[in-house]
Amino acid sequence: MTLPPMPPRPRWRNLALLALLLAPLLWPLQYFAERYYRSELAEQNRQTLDLYVANLFGTLRRYEVLPNILADLPALRALFAAPEDAARRDSANRLLARVRGETGADVIYLMGPAGTTLASSNWDQVDSFVGRDFSYRPYFREALAGKPGRFFGLGTTSRKRGYFFSSPVRDGERVIGILVVKVDLDDSEALWGNTPEQLMVTDRNGVVIISSRAEWRFRATRALDNAERAAIAANQPYPTQAPTPLRLDGDAWLIQSRELQEAGLTASILAPRQLIDRQVSTTLAVGGAALLALLLLLGLLLQRRRHYLERIAFDARARRDLEIRVAERTRDLETLNHRLKDEVLEREHTQQELVRTQDELVQAGKLTALGTMSASISHELNQPLAAIRSYADNAGVLLDHQRLDDARGNLRQISELTGRMASIIAHLRAFARRDRHAPESVALQPALDDALALLAKRRRALEVELIRDLPDATLWVQAGETRLRQVLGNLLANALDAVAEKAPPRRIWLSAEVTAEGVNLLLRDNGPGFSEQALRHAREPFFTTKTSTQGLGLGLAICETLMRALGGELLLANHPAGGALITLQLRGAAPGANLQSPEEFS
Ligand code: ADP
Repeated sequence: MTLPPMPPRPRWRNLALLALLLAPLLWPLQYFAERYYRSELAEQNRQTLDLYVANLFGTLRRYEVLPNILADLPALRALFAAPEDAARRDSANRLLARVRGETGADVIYLMGPAGTTLASSNWDQVDSFVGRDFSYRPYFREALAGKPGRFFGLGTTSRKRGYFFSSPVRDGERVIGILVVKVDLDDSEALWGNTPEQLMVTDRNGVVIISSRAEWRFRATRALDNAERAAIAANQPYPTQAPTPLRLDGDAWLIQSRELQEAGLTASILAPRQLIDRQVSTTLAVGGAALLALLLLLGLLLQRRRHYLERIAFDARARRDLEIRVAERTRDLETLNHRLKDEVLEREHTQQELVRTQDELVQAGKLTALGTMSASISHELNQPLAAIRSYADNAGVLLDHQRLDDARGNLRQISELTGRMASIIAHLRAFARRDRHAPESVALQPALDDALALLAKRRRALEVELIRDLPDATLWVQAGETRLRQVLGNLLANALDAVAEKAPPRRIWLSAEVTAEGVNLLLRDNGPGFSEQALRHAREPFFTTKTSTQGLGLGLAICETLMRALGGELLLANHPAGGALITLQLRGAAPGANLQSPEEFS
C-alpha cells in the first residue's frame, strides 16, 4: 500500500526568494515616505521662510517711507539754501543723528544734487559720509530723476551690507537734494540659527547678498549678462566686480523661495536632502523589519502547517498500518477458522470412525468377555469339582467299609460344594455383567476359615505353617459372603502357589488391624514375592507368570473387581523381609445376624 506523499518542506531559501519578491513593496513605501517627509519639511520650511520674509519685509517697510518724511523737514531743507553754512550743517547733522538713533537705521544722510553728501548721521564718526560722493549709486540717480530709489550694496567704507532707500528733496518741481536711509542687513543674517536648513537672499542679479553660509555670499546663482556685469562694475554693490558662480546641487538641496517684489529680492530656504533621506531610510528600515517579521511569521505559520500536515500524515499512516494489521489478523483468523472448520469436520469424521470402531470393539469385547467368562468358570469350578470327586471317591470307599455316617458326611460335603459351585457360577455371571449385590455385614473370621478349609489339604501337602494373628472378637466388614470367600480363596491359593516354589520352611501369615474406616486384613507369605512386572500388571486379566495349566491370570483381576464392588481395596506389595504382602482394605460394618449370606442362594 502506498502512502500519500508528504507535503514539501518550506525551505528558508524559498522564504529568502519570497523576501526578494516582496522587496519591491519597499519602493512604494519609499516613494510615499519621501513624499510625506518632503511635504512635511516643505511645510515647516515654508513657515520658517514666511517668518523670515515677514521680518525682512517688515524691516524694509519700516524704513521705506522714512526718506520721504525726512525730506519735508524744514531744518534739512534749509541746508540746501546755504549748503556751506556750518551752523545749518551742524544742526542737520545732529537732527539726522537723532532720527537715526530713534529709528534704528544704520545711516541717514543728505546729498546735494551733484552727489556729494552734505550732512550725515555719522558726521562725527571716522567713516563719516560728509563730503563723500555717492553719485555712482543707482539710488542717487533714481531719486535725482524724482523717483524713490532702492538699492542693495556693500558699504564702501563700512564694508557692511545695507539696503538703501532714497527720496528726492524737492523745491516745487525741482529736485534740490536727496535723502538717503541705509538699513543694516547684516543683523538679519545673524537671526538665523545654527540649523541644517540654510538661508539665502539673492538680489535682482541673482547674486547672494544674505546667507547663513559665509562662503555663498556675493556669489552668482545664475549667469550674468553683460549689462548686468557693467551695472555691477558701475554700482559696486558687491565687494567684487565679478561674482563667482554658485552651483548648488539640486539633488542635495530642497529649495523653497519667496520673492520680495518691491525690494527686488528673493529669499530662499535650502534644506539638505539628507534630512528627508534619513527619515525615509528609518521608515524603510522599519518597513523592512516589519516585512521581515511578517515573513518570519509566515515561515513560522508554514512550519506549523507542515508539522500539522506531518502529524495528519503520521496519523493516517498509523491508521493504515493498523488497518493492514487488522486485515492481516482477520485473514489469519479466517484461515484459522477454515482450519478449525476442517478440523471439526475431520473430528466428526473421526468420531464416526471411532463410533464404528467402538461398535466393532464392543463386538470384539463381547467375544472376549465370553472367553474370559468361560475361562473363569472353568478356573473357579475346578477346585470344588476336584473336592467333590475326592469326597465322592471317599464316600465309595466308606460305603464299602459300611461307614455309613462318614459316607453321609461326605455326601453332605458334596451337596454343600455343589451349592457353592452354583453360587460361584452366579457370581461369575455377575462379574461378567458387572452385576452388583448390595454389600452386607459379613463376619471376617468364619469366611477366612471357610477359604482355608477349601485349601487345607493342599496346605498340609506342602507343609505350610499358618501363622494367625487375628482378634477373637468377630470382625464385621461390608461384603458379600461368597464374594469375600472367593477373594480370600484366590489370595490364599496364590500364596500356596508362591510358597510352593520354595523349599520349606513355608509360611503364611494372617493378621488384621482395625482402622478408622474398617478392617485391614494382611496376608503375607514367604514365597518369592511379586516381580517388578507382576506388581505393575498382576491386576490385569490374564496376566500370569505361571504355566497355562497352572494359572489363567484371572484370580487377582476378579479379586480387584469384587473388592471395588464392595467398596474396599486390594493392595499388592512385597514384605521387606521377602515374600508377598497383600492388604485387603475392607469397610467396617455393624454386627450382622446371619453368618450365611442370602446371596449364596441367588
Ligand atoms: P494365576 O494365579 O492364574 O497366575 P492370578 O491373577 O491369581 O493368576 O495371579 C497373577 C500373578 O500374580 C501370578 O501369576 C503370580 O505371578 C503373581 N502372584 C499372585 N499371588 C502371588 C504371591 N502370593 N506371591 C508371588 N506372586 C504372586
